[in-house]
Amino acid sequence: MLLLGSMVHVFAQNKLPDFECPTIAGRMVTMALRAHKQMTYFRRHPIDLKSRVCDSLYEKWRSHELVQDDEHPTKYLIIITLDGMRWQEVFTGADSILWQETTTKTRPEENFWHTSGEKRREQLLPFLWNEVAEYGQIYGNRFKGSSVSVTNRMRISYPGYNEIFTGHPDDRHIKLNFKIPNPNPNVLRFIGERKNFRGRVASFASWDVFPSILNAKQGGIYVNAAFEPVRKNCFFSLNAQLETVSKPWGNRVRPDSLTTAYALQYLSLNQPRVLHLGLGETDEYAHEKKYAEYLEAAHASDRMIRQIWEFVQSSPVYRNKTTLFITTDHGRGNDAATWHKHHTWVDGAEEIWFAVMGPETLPSGEIQSSSPQFQNQFAQTFAAFLGLDYLPSEAIGEKITALLGSGNHPITQR
Ligand SMILES: [Zn+2]
Repeated sequence: MLLLGSMVHVFAQNKLPDFECPTIAGRMVTMALRAHKQMTYFRRHPIDLKSRVCDSLYEKWRSHELVQDDEHPTKYLIIITLDGMRWQEVFTGADSILWQETTTKTRPEENFWHTSGEKRREQLLPFLWNEVAEYGQIYGNRFKGSSVSVTNRMRISYPGYNEIFTGHPDDRHIKLNFKIPNPNPNVLRFIGERKNFRGRVASFASWDVFPSILNAKQGGIYVNAAFEPVRKNCFFSLNAQLETVSKPWGNRVRPDSLTTAYALQYLSLNQPRVLHLGLGETDEYAHEKKYAEYLEAAHASDRMIRQIWEFVQSSPVYRNKTTLFITTDHGRGNDAATWHKHHTWVDGAEEIWFAVMGPETLPSGEIQSSSPQFQNQFAQTFAAFLGLDYLPSEAIGEKITALLGSGNHPITQR
């Protein structure tokens, strides 16, 4: 009766007895109760979370299970693209001629001007220069002998993102920015179909062409772009904002701040192994020849990257296990007459840059006098960060070994 009473008490209180039974029979009952409680917990816990609290918390619980068997230094990869962001502003900040052309009235409240190019770039992109370049590597300063180029001849967005994510140009099929499904397999989908990555690869993009570029309908990755809401309970508030936010570029481009808010929410709830964040406002303002707004969009993008990284480093799941890769899809014209545009016949539109920080990337900072790097190398590099070898049927660029495999060096963040 005493034992039965104890069991009833335990089930009623949903806790284990806080005394040790002195007899063998008592110990057996305690063990049986513990085993029963554990079985009940593991059987009911995901279902309870899924139905009562929030659909994504279940995924959060699962992701902890999934990463246990993976000893590679980079367990998570975050890829951020700034559409049409010129290397000239990345490495020297505001351009002196274009800055002079912006009238005082349209100049940003943030002061991006200084006589020193190094000061200007820090004022424009403080996180990139004070954190990423400090603790990682940044490539593409042609003034210092580091070049990064696209290999596609189109030098516009869809062909650029195709090259980034498939590892090769496809000038025959991908010439323009129309929303045609990409015929080429991409590395995100490849990763998303691997064991331990299944269902854990996502892309959040401002531009509405991304579902076509990444061919989201084929599965393997979750793609959310432009004004498509995220159909999960926990995104109710952001979906409400999506309905009322102003649309400077119609339904084509979602404001970057909202795209980033979605990505942050998804990171925190779903904990993807790979996340792509595609920002678009820099390209939009550049095409409109609004240099001041272009600079402001770049500065805001830098803040958004900081927000993502601060979340990463505050999370016990992501901290010091995440590699951050930042780049652009194409360059732009390299003088005051052509800076706003980019296509096959614009000089400079093939010139790009990239920056990386993570647990296996040595803090070499701004790279000088190096061998040229190419956009078609990014896909294999993304796979290599996660310990994978991407082998599509097309020949693709080689991984960038200088970014990889230096073991686990500590990431320090101020
Ligand atoms: Zn463009």
